[in-house]
Amino acid sequence: MEFIQPLLSVLFPSRCLLCQHSADTVVELCAGCLAGLPHNTRCCQRCALPLAVEAGKSLICGRCIKQPPAFDYAYSLFSYQDEIIKLVHQLKFSEKITYARSIGELLRMRLQAEAALEKDKPDCLLPVPLHQSRLRQRGFNQSIEISRVISKKLAIPIECHAVVRQRSTDAQTGLDAKQRRRNMKGAFKMAAEFNAGHVLIVDDVVTTGATTNELAKLLKKNGVRRVGVLSIARAPVKG
Ligand SMILES: [Zn+2]
Ligand SMILES: [Zn+2]
Repeated sequence: MEFIQPLLSVLFPSRCLLCQHSADTVVELCAGCLAGLPHNTRCCQRCALPLAVEAGKSLICGRCIKQPPAFDYAYSLFSYQDEIIKLVHQLKFSEKITYARSIGELLRMRLQAEAALEKDKPDCLLPVPLHQSRLRQRGFNQSIEISRVISKKLAIPIECHAVVRQRSTDAQTGLDAKQRRRNMKGAFKMAAEFNAGHVLIVDDVVTTGATTNELAKLLKKNGVRRVGVLSIARAPVKG
């Protein structure tokens, strides 16, 4: 069936997800749109928080200096603004699988660009679990969908059963970092036997990091040695 994909792309050339011009790339974004996205190049080396130019040479954010997160490293492709908000919204609320495929490819490329990947490869990908009620409402977990591309191309298995979200934490919007941390406490629990030394959490948007931090804490408490976070976008600090 290997011939199907090239054949399909000749019959139905792909269109850029943002501007509808032709986009003959694996990520389904045209070169212009891709270059114009808010790439998160200047960010905290530990938590991927976008840093302002005024931050000088420091590559660790104030929050990580004061209290390092429970995860060991984080990659976030974009700053959560402009067209990225639109893309993530489409990923969550449109049934079209192309969004997950396109974003999954971008994440896969980012991960593959890490020189350390070969000797420090994660044992599994752990998409942030949705609460049952949210999953029923949406019909799919966007973090699982974007993980599929990475899993397939980099041969890293997806773990969807080890952790469950036992509490619905819908009301995160409008809460500050401290309130979010409190709100997330005990949101996850282990649900199955889990044996992994190095876990890569996959999330769509990391806002304050409260969710991924809570998940990382739980994993470390259960014997995971190394935890990373891979996300599409990271929200810049407000103001
Ligand atoms: Zn475009
Ligand atoms: Zn940081």
